[in-house]
Amino acid sequence: MTLPYAEPLIRRDPPPRVIPEPPRVGEPGGDPCGLCDWLASFEKSEHRPPLWMDDNWALCPAKDVTIPGVVWLASRGHHDSFADLPAAHATSYGPVVARIERAILGLGGIARVHVYRWGDGSAHFHVWFYPRPLGMLEARREMLPLWADLMPPAPEEDVADADRKIAAAMAAGD
Ligand SMILES: [Zn+2]
Repeated sequence: MTLPYAEPLIRRDPPPRVIPEPPRVGEPGGDPCGLCDWLASFEKSEHRPPLWMDDNWALCPAKDVTIPGVVWLASRGHHDSFADLPAAHATSYGPVVARIERAILGLGGIARVHVYRWGDGSAHFHVWFYPRPLGMLEARREMLPLWADLMPPAPEEDVADADRKIAAAMAAGD
C-alpha cells in the first residue's frame, strides 16, 4: 500500500467525456498566458525571475511547494509537445534536463529526480521535476506527485534556499 490515502478506497465511475475539450491557458479562447507576461516583464516587475533561462527555455520555481526542489521547465514559446518542438528545443532538451537533474541532486538527501510531462495546463511545452526524498519509498514512481499534493507546505526559507542553489548550479554551467 503506497497510496497517500487510508483504506477503504471506493472506485468511482469516470464522468462523461468532454468533447470538444476546453482550451488550455494561452490557447485561443483560454485564459491569457501568465508565463508569457512574466517572461516579458519580470525585469521591470516585482516578480521573481526564472531560476535560469536561455533563448529556448525558462526554468521556473513552483508555487505551493511541499518538497523543496520541485521546479518546472517551459519552452519560452507556445509549442504543444515533443511532436512540434522546434529543432533548437528538441536538440537542447536532453542536455538541459540533465543539467537540471544534476542541479536538483546537488541539494542532497534526494534519491531520484522524477520528470513528468503532462501538458494539460499551459500552451507552453513544459515538464515538471519532482525530487523524491531519500528513503521515501512510499513515494516511488507515480506515487510521488500524489504524496506531494497532500504533504504540508515546506518552510518558505527551505524552498527559497533550494531554488537559490538550483539557480546557482544552472548559472555555473552556462
Ligand atoms: Zn505563453
